Amino acid sequence: MIEIPRQKPKFRFAPSPNGPLHLGHALSAILNCEMAEKAGGDFLLRIEDIDQTRCTPDFEKDIYTDLSWLGLRWQEPVRRQSEHFPAYQEALQILIERGLVYPAFLTRGEVKARVAALEANGAPWPLDPDGTPLYPPDDRERSDDERRRLLASGVKHAWRLDMEKALAAIVEPLHWQESGDGERGAISADPATWGDVVLSRSDAPSSYHLSVVVDDAAQGITHVVRGLDLFHATSIHRLLQTLLGLPEPLYHHHRLLLGSDGKKLSKSMGDTGIAEWRRQGWSPAELRRRIGL
Ligand code: GLU
Repeated sequence: MIEIPRQKPKFRFAPSPNGPLHLGHALSAILNCEMAEKAGGDFLLRIEDIDQTRCTPDFEKDIYTDLSWLGLRWQEPVRRQSEHFPAYQEALQILIERGLVYPAFLTRGEVKARVAALEANGAPWPLDPDGTPLYPPDDRERSDDERRRLLASGVKHAWRLDMEKALAAIVEPLHWQESGDGERGAISADPATWGDVVLSRSDAPSSYHLSVVVDDAAQGITHVVRGLDLFHATSIHRLLQTLLGLPEPLYHHHRLLLGSDGKKLSKSMGDTGIAEWRRQGWSPAELRRRIGL
């Protein structure tokens, strides 16, 4: 009988060290670790620290402390995004050479003003699934000459995906396989709703979307388990994976924990961190019970 080699399942938890981990992170990390165990696979850790202005070594140390206290063990080495900027640049370069991205020069203030001007003409300007106005068309419409001149002048710029061109380069409709707590089965990806997403920022040589697909491929991730807040972002990830010829993982978007205000927990809102609950005397078992595990 011919043995078909089975790819070892690999799961990952990918926090950003820009604040203390809260109970929502605990849920995500525990689910990843337990699903990996059940599947006879590996549980990997990735530190998403491309934003060097907000990420700190102290927050990173706290991540290891919190996860260890929860009783989780991950496979070494930990992948730190700040050590892989050349890999993201390489992926970006492929898209530049295919003419699927363009340099974007508008500042935040200019985008706001342009959107207000576009709305003054009548219809409301469309928002992406996160509620952010789509990037206005100004930079996409510049001539090659003008782009070259602006780039040569050294003015700060990001790189954005030309969504229309990117979709035209895709042959088959995009889908992903979903097993999470929301919609399940084969989900149709709809990246157009995001407009021209940023792939490399003016202050960081990558973006969340570009680095996450490069890293999932580099780490051999077969199962992406993360919160439902990233469900719609999966449309962009499937598009980028297809454009870059990267493998397609399975996806599982789990329930979110809500704060007393009914909103999802967030670091920026200062929601109580795992460490604080620990100081207040919770055991790991108590924490699991409180988050419904
Ligand atoms: N770094 C992201 C976060 O902390 C998670 C990214 C992902 O799991 O794809 O929300």
